[in-house]
Amino acid sequence: MKTLELTPPGTVYLVGAGPGAPDLITLRGLAALRRADVVVYDALVHPQLVAEAPADAERVYAGKRGYCVGSTLQETIHEVMANRARAGLTVVRLKGGDPCVFGRGGEEAEYLAGRGVPVEIVPGVTTAVGACAAAGIPLTHRDATQAVTLVTGHFDPDSPDCTLDWAALARTGTLVVYMGLRHLDAIAARLTQNGLPPDTPAAVVCRGTLPDQQVIDSPLSLLPAAARAAGAAAPAVVVVGEVVAHRSRMLALASAASEGALA
Ligand code: SAH
Repeated sequence: MKTLELTPPGTVYLVGAGPGAPDLITLRGLAALRRADVVVYDALVHPQLVAEAPADAERVYAGKRGYCVGSTLQETIHEVMANRARAGLTVVRLKGGDPCVFGRGGEEAEYLAGRGVPVEIVPGVTTAVGACAAAGIPLTHRDATQAVTLVTGHFDPDSPDCTLDWAALARTGTLVVYMGLRHLDAIAARLTQNGLPPDTPAAVVCRGTLPDQQVIDSPLSLLPAAARAAGAAAPAVVVVGEVVAHRSRMLALASAASEGALA
């Protein structure tokens, strides 16, 4: 299978590393990584993926936790990529999930393209998709919803930085909140105040797709307390909606099936 066209040296690939487990990267992403001269990688990228770059590739850690960190680091990342690419090197910018879902991939691509640096975006499995699949939560289901909405919970719902329309979100269908653990109390309160029933099925998925993945499911109004009691910690996504109820059904069916197989 041909996975990646040879492109001129000096290209920057913005590559999605996938949601956690290293083998969830795409073939195209892995091909780019394996011929990188420089890898600029984020905190949530699995070390086994960074190890896939050639042994003599330059490895630049651009780790930062959280979505909105001061611009200096971001500017440095931009400059490192542009300078290496202008020197004719193949640069892989490796980001967790998909580079353009809460990952600043758009900003980085615009910066580079605006300076004449060739850029290719290689998509990745975003956390909402990967973590929910691994947790047995179907993001859509014909019986439950016709819509999925991805939002960032980084901003305190009570601060003016948060521009989310909670009334609309309370009506939308499946809701997946990235970076939602810190403000989970306020998020659950906003949704229920805006008409979402307090017993709406909801879950927190921590370290989705990784061997120590943790899933806490609970009615929405009780989810913040349940997450605290279970020691939930980042990285985590919050999933709200009827689809979460399908998780227990799927698990029950799967365990019945495996018992049947053993019998
Ligand atoms: N570009 C990424 C998101 C980066 S923002 C993507 O497409 O998935 C970082 C947030 O993603 C974390 O705070 C968390 O909310 C979520 N996240 C990343 N990896 C995760 C994982 N393995 N399990 C659960 N949530 C994860």
